[in-house]
Amino acid sequence: MSADPVVLQIAVPTPFRKLFDYLPENNANKSVSKPGCRVLIPFGKRKHIIGVVVSSSKHSEYPQNKLKRIEHVIDEQPVFEKTQMELLLWASRYYHHPVGEVINNALPVWLRKANQLEQLVPIAWQMTKKGKNTALDTLKRSPKQYQLLEYLQKHSQPHLEHDLLEQADIHKRVIQSLEQKQFIEKTALTPNMQYSVSDNNKFDLNQEQKQAVKNVTAAIGSSQVFLLDGLTGSGKTEVYMEIVKAVLQAGKQSLILLPEIGLTPQIIQRFKQRFHCKIAIQHSGLSNRERMQHWLSAKDGSAGIVLGTRSAIWTPLANPGVFIIDEEHDLSYKQQEGFRYSAKDTLIMRSQLEQLPVLLGSATPSLESQYNIQKKSYQPLQLRVRAGGATLPEFKLFDVRGKKMYGALSDLLVNEIRQHLNKNNQVLLFLNRRGYATHLICHACGWKACCERCERPYTYHKTYKKMICHHCDNYKNPIETCAECEQPLFMLGHGTERIEEQLHALFPDKTMARIDRDSTRKKNAMSSILEKINDGSIDILIGTQMLAKGHHFPNVTLTAIVDADHGLFSTDFRASERLAQLFVQVSGRAGRGEKKGTVVVQTHQPDHDLFQQIIQHGYQHYAKTLMQERETAELPPYSYMALLNAEAHNQSDAVGFLRHAAVLINERKEKQLSVFGPVPALIEKRSGRFRQQLILQANNRNALHKHIDSWLLQLETAKLSKKVRWSIDIDPQDMA
Ligand code: ADP
Ligand code: ZN
Ligand code: ZN
Repeated sequence: MSADPVVLQIAVPTPFRKLFDYLPENNANKSVSKPGCRVLIPFGKRKHIIGVVVSSSKHSEYPQNKLKRIEHVIDEQPVFEKTQMELLLWASRYYHHPVGEVINNALPVWLRKANQLEQLVPIAWQMTKKGKNTALDTLKRSPKQYQLLEYLQKHSQPHLEHDLLEQADIHKRVIQSLEQKQFIEKTALTPNMQYSVSDNNKFDLNQEQKQAVKNVTAAIGSSQVFLLDGLTGSGKTEVYMEIVKAVLQAGKQSLILLPEIGLTPQIIQRFKQRFHCKIAIQHSGLSNRERMQHWLSAKDGSAGIVLGTRSAIWTPLANPGVFIIDEEHDLSYKQQEGFRYSAKDTLIMRSQLEQLPVLLGSATPSLESQYNIQKKSYQPLQLRVRAGGATLPEFKLFDVRGKKMYGALSDLLVNEIRQHLNKNNQVLLFLNRRGYATHLICHACGWKACCERCERPYTYHKTYKKMICHHCDNYKNPIETCAECEQPLFMLGHGTERIEEQLHALFPDKTMARIDRDSTRKKNAMSSILEKINDGSIDILIGTQMLAKGHHFPNVTLTAIVDADHGLFSTDFRASERLAQLFVQVSGRAGRGEKKGTVVVQTHQPDHDLFQQIIQHGYQHYAKTLMQERETAELPPYSYMALLNAEAHNQSDAVGFLRHAAVLINERKEKQLSVFGPVPALIEKRSGRFRQQLILQANNRNALHKHIDSWLLQLETAKLSKKVRWSIDIDPQDMA
């Protein structure tokens, strides 16, 4: 035995930006735990903290007698394999986030406790040599044992315990008796990785779809990123499914990311109908245990397909073949708090480590991805016609200035709605504001009811009979009179509840459904509304951006964007891009069946570039204009950005902290790095905290990243750092 002590480097879920050295468990017989295994450790004053082994070495910079021992190794087999560990370490470096938190974030919740993976692996039994060679007659006096051994001798492959109980029609006691006699023993079932590919596809792919499938499948086994730019309804999902089929045939797994599975149960259904192999689902709607079962089936290779939201990128896969990201432009792929990572960029990094292709799909590709096409880092694929003969909708821009209004609806729009309803078609109205009224305001003096903690107006919710702050979710009973002059308050602005009420008054004999965060709070509420829409029992749908994403409503012939001006004037440099994407996604809900669709846009700014360009020339054309603007202004994707966010109860603490941070980074004298601010965040105050940011910008990635680690270490010891909540956001997607 080697006398050299082994030191293990452990990632611990704490804000410290380093690994911790530990000595192995006291029990000398135990093999040294491998990287990727969980261990229980004492940490500071706390005991039984779960850490993950990252590496081992013979020496530590600390003296032996100062090092603590691991209490216990939880996993026999690593939770994360080698390439996954590499990915996690990369993510910690790239996003400058504490490694222990990065690894903890990637662990399924069920594994953040000392639960044993083996607990979930089903028990299987096989015969021992003794069992095989034993004459049945020896069991004559125990008919049940006789029966079981007879069954096993006839069917000698390993059996899952619950299958045995059923098929051999016996009690668990009988199994135990045979085990005691050493006729049978426990075994691990090798998961079945032969994926069945049954194909009940109804139609042939068109030429462009075939080309896309061909290019991606040809890249299986090598790392290459593809961007599938396809109109809404052009058959992107069909392309994904053909690729998945080819990957299954090659005996490999597909990981597919979707923006919000809970909202789009339809897409899971489509995959389940098409493929009879096991499908693992990874999203927050599952219980921790359920999610864990699915996770295991991805890890052991028994699930051929993994469908999930952002965090599914951390799911281990036994034989990954392809990664697919649907609606790649979607903001939900960026985690906006805690460990702020981009699931898209991290998955692309993973594809390089594992050598496999990534397919990004969207009707409105992000400017970042288009820039990567220009640079030839991504390979472009296109679908330019709507699949199955559906045509693109016709646009109508309604200039509502001076028009007669029914609440938020112009008479032009009301007429249009009536025409579509008269033909027994469905209508979809889109408004990105939930609740009833956006302000409670005093007509006499202009006072507004505002959330004290955010200094923003409360939204009045009629269903809850509450005023709710949409920034911090704070709520109150509505007040009726002005706090300044005691005059009655009145309601200003329109949310989805109020539009629904208006429509009831205008079309009393029509049925309606409202889809927003409030109406879909209960489990399965969304699915039940979607069912009603699809069976035709709903005439008018009113919804927020939840409705914009991915849904397929073949009988909707009119979609209307009720207030297109909302969002035109945000100061976030990505506002126009986001608005254009939303605009196209919403219009993509119209005319997806055989009937032609119409899209109505209500605006006070009919001449705005965004409407004119998108309506006349399409999203791509407008995206080019935006790209030129970004290039001129040297904004991402033409430069690299990081935000240092700070929030504090005192404005001066947040500003002071960031000023100090600016001085420290400027001392580095990095010529290619520009530092702006401190400036107030877009949401200047939230939940009683003032919010400020420092913007770092550089023309190359290296110049941006080079000093961040050492800078953050300095900030940790800065005087004000205890008084502010601060965080770093690399490649920020949202300046709010
Ligand atoms: P996207 O994902 O681009 O929005 P989908 O894949 O959902 O588009 O396709 C839209 C509709 O067209 C679906 O009902 C789909 O079954 C149908 N479809 C797709 N490809 C074809 C094709 N080649 N021929 C006929 N119908 C198709
Ligand atoms: Zn007043
Ligand atoms: Zn608030």
